[in-house]
Amino acid sequence: MRTMVIAAIVAGITAGRGQVPDLANHTIVDLTHSYGASTVFWPTAETKFTLQKLAHGQTPGGYFYAANAFCTPEHGGTHLDAPNHFSEAGRTTEKIPLEQLVAPAVVIDVTPRAAADRDYRATADDVTQFEKAHGRITRGTIVLLRTGWSRHWPNAKAYLGDDTPGDASKLSFPSYGVEAARLLVEDRGVAALGIDTASIDYGRSTDFQVHRIAAARNVPGFENLTNLDRLPPRGALVVALPMKIEGGSGGPLRAIALVAR
Ligand SMILES: [Zn+2]
Repeated sequence: MRTMVIAAIVAGITAGRGQVPDLANHTIVDLTHSYGASTVFWPTAETKFTLQKLAHGQTPGGYFYAANAFCTPEHGGTHLDAPNHFSEAGRTTEKIPLEQLVAPAVVIDVTPRAAADRDYRATADDVTQFEKAHGRITRGTIVLLRTGWSRHWPNAKAYLGDDTPGDASKLSFPSYGVEAARLLVEDRGVAALGIDTASIDYGRSTDFQVHRIAAARNVPGFENLTNLDRLPPRGALVVALPMKIEGGSGGPLRAIALVAR
């Protein structure tokens, strides 16, 4: 039944038949960390998120007025990796088809393995075991890897494994393994790879193979997601919309999921 409802929502959105999704029967889950002073960035990021107050208070006209300017690297907080991040020919942020950003999702849970080994990399076997239990992952699915890591947010040392400024050589956190990424991207043809850690490559990676495998097929990444424990293994509809930066290699991402009640 849930699958049918989601299918109806997807059909309503993609077919443009004027059907309004039945939100009364769905929970909307926020998959996004808010941007602020404690937002976690890669240790080598030269700047972080900053909010500059331009106006805040009563005006001579007798009304309140507030406005800010913000500045942020593309790759920090909950954000998109555009294919161009690791492929010169890959799509930049504004060119990613919306069908890769709004799609049914599956959630592969490796929380116990990541808890036992913070350098855990999800294997092809994790993917096939998921499929045995929940069905084959079909083309155009958004895959979310759940490691339980957002419980560490925003403690950068716990989350990244090391928070030495300017040094990314001692990072330690779980993510996708190369064979799992190949299976999902090259064989299953997934829309996107999402993760509740800082990167779709594990922390110890120095060659970023998962990023390169995904980028080569124009598959974007969603990083630093949260609340993946509130999603079912299959049946959620993910809406992951980045700031539409022309020529961007990524960007801040507002990701939510619709889950049937
Ligand atoms: Zn990134």
